[in-house]
Amino acid sequence: MLNKDGIISLAELAPLIPSESRLKKGPVAMAECIQDIPCDPCVLACPRHAITMKAGITDQPHLDQAVCNGCTLCVASCPGLAIFVVNMAHAPRSATVTLPYEMLPVPKEGEVVAALDRSGKTVCEAKVLKVMKSKVYDRTLTITIEIPKDLAMSVRAIRAGVKVGRK
Ligand code: SF4
Ligand code: SF4
Repeated sequence: MLNKDGIISLAELAPLIPSESRLKKGPVAMAECIQDIPCDPCVLACPRHAITMKAGITDQPHLDQAVCNGCTLCVASCPGLAIFVVNMAHAPRSATVTLPYEMLPVPKEGEVVAALDRSGKTVCEAKVLKVMKSKVYDRTLTITIEIPKDLAMSVRAIRAGVKVGRK
């Protein structure tokens, strides 16, 4: 639970998970931001206006999954590193997760890295498909990884420079 250990629980995550039908259509963002904090760069970052805050800047972001096309532009905009884009339609047995990355070393495209869950535990290997850098977001990179489909809602970080088997 976020308030107790800083890790969003499955119950807290449930309302944020897109519907099965939306996930089948392709990439979609998940804003894992469930506290009322004065922050809204994600609202400004989305060219489709898929992220809104009805009650002002201290509201939690509401993401319209029907409007979001999974472009990933919002991922690096979030100072809390709380936005991810999940693509369950990537391949029959694998999904992709696009996540923010502010660590070193920066992995190369094609490199295999460790994939971590929200607690920092290594859960599998991931192949880096894309590394994107934008001047707009300074040193926050956007990295897309390929992982087993059943771990798409668990993997939320990577560690480069190590290799580990799936546990
Ligand atoms: S992935 Fe693109 S369309 Fe979806 S919320 Fe983020 S910026 Fe908007
Ligand atoms: S930018 Fe990130 S931390 Fe700020 S409101 Fe949006 S999702 Fe939450």
